[in-house]
Amino acid sequence: MNRQVKEFLEKVELRNSNEPEFLQSVQEVAETIIPFLEQAPRYKKAKILERMVEPERVIMFRVPWLDDAGEVQVNRGFRVQMNSAIGPYKGGLRFHPSVNLSILKFLAFEQVLKNSLTGLPMGGGKGGSDFDPKGKSDNEIMKFCQSFMTELYRHVGADIDVPAGDIGVGGREVGYLFGQYKRIKGEFTGVLTGKGPGWGGSVIRPEATGYGVVYFAEDMLETRGETMKGKTVLISGSGNVAQYTVERCLQAGAKVVTMSDSEGFIYDPEGIDEAKLAYVMDLKNEQRGRIREYTKKFGGEFFEGERPWKIKCDVAFPNATQNELNEEDARLLVKNGCFCVAEGANMPCTPEAIHVFTEAKILYAPGKASNAGGVAVSGLEMSQNSLRISWTREEVNSRLWQIMKDIHRICVKYGKEEDGYINYEKGANIGGFVKVAEAMIAQGIV
Ligand code: GLU
Repeated sequence: MNRQVKEFLEKVELRNSNEPEFLQSVQEVAETIIPFLEQAPRYKKAKILERMVEPERVIMFRVPWLDDAGEVQVNRGFRVQMNSAIGPYKGGLRFHPSVNLSILKFLAFEQVLKNSLTGLPMGGGKGGSDFDPKGKSDNEIMKFCQSFMTELYRHVGADIDVPAGDIGVGGREVGYLFGQYKRIKGEFTGVLTGKGPGWGGSVIRPEATGYGVVYFAEDMLETRGETMKGKTVLISGSGNVAQYTVERCLQAGAKVVTMSDSEGFIYDPEGIDEAKLAYVMDLKNEQRGRIREYTKKFGGEFFEGERPWKIKCDVAFPNATQNELNEEDARLLVKNGCFCVAEGANMPCTPEAIHVFTEAKILYAPGKASNAGGVAVSGLEMSQNSLRISWTREEVNSRLWQIMKDIHRICVKYGKEEDGYINYEKGANIGGFVKVAEAMIAQGIV
């Protein structure tokens, strides 16, 4: 590691020593940005990177609620307002027992660069709670969301900070959060995205991350004269992102053979077709069941407690959660012929895994580039709310498609190496950084 990178990271580590995921995301960015700063002394002098790793504000709060048994429950709520240089803070809320400050700071830090890459005027933030939605009744989810918003409402707003969904937060939760905000404030505004299409939401928002990650992979494949047609695909996860990744893969003529959840993965060598996907959507979104049910209905195999990376494939989409694909998994993928990995989740590949991919010179895209479609359509939802209009599916989808193309172009511009290899990680980091840095310089030392 370069000496300047090491010195920078030592300082960040000293201030955030108990935040491993945040440090991991900062290291990943510092390794490409610090060498770049040598060609951009203005950014170095203005200490842009030093400022960017310090959140503008962190809010932590108590979330008390009554469960169905009449017992008092207490969770911890957070909102990390990371950077507002190019627009209001924007980023999802995650409800998961693993949520803590380190996880939300890493997500917020990634979000700043991701939102910048979309080309839309959105700053970066992230929030959530250690609340575990698994096994909770609808009534409990609503009570929790109402209590969470009863504190959060004073920190957010359509021109201040616009949360959305992430793991554990989908349309249902956004609805309850929005209802409570509207009740407290007495106004109907675009304070959240991911709303229902009949009450201010945008069409294509549910599909956006999954469609976007495949659009991005299609652009990556094109650089090698390839397409998704006929490719064997591994997908991890079975939530919103994974479901629409499958849908778009099918539209593009690929064969998807895996999906997963926290209990393990299913392998269907015949491929998950439209009808099977409809079953998974109902199972996950309505029944809120486990993915292992799939094999009881359609055959194939369920691998308890395992991740799908040992299955032979051409293209892989890690779409579940952070650090779900390690060095050993990466070696297996490369050995089995996988030549394209596009992240649908945030930071699913460990730094060692990324190293394996770049050494092997396979196509690898970091989430901040390839999964930006979700927040991009959130940005389009904000625009529609401000204009008080609703665009059609065709309009939103073609904007999403164009945004993913533009992000790909930016990655190539900043990430193409001397031997022609496109380092998407470097391209995404520098491309996202430059826009934020320029805005920060223009706005002075704030
Ligand atoms: N949670 C998503 C992400 O990681 C979307 C955030 C949003 O739509 O604001 O980008």
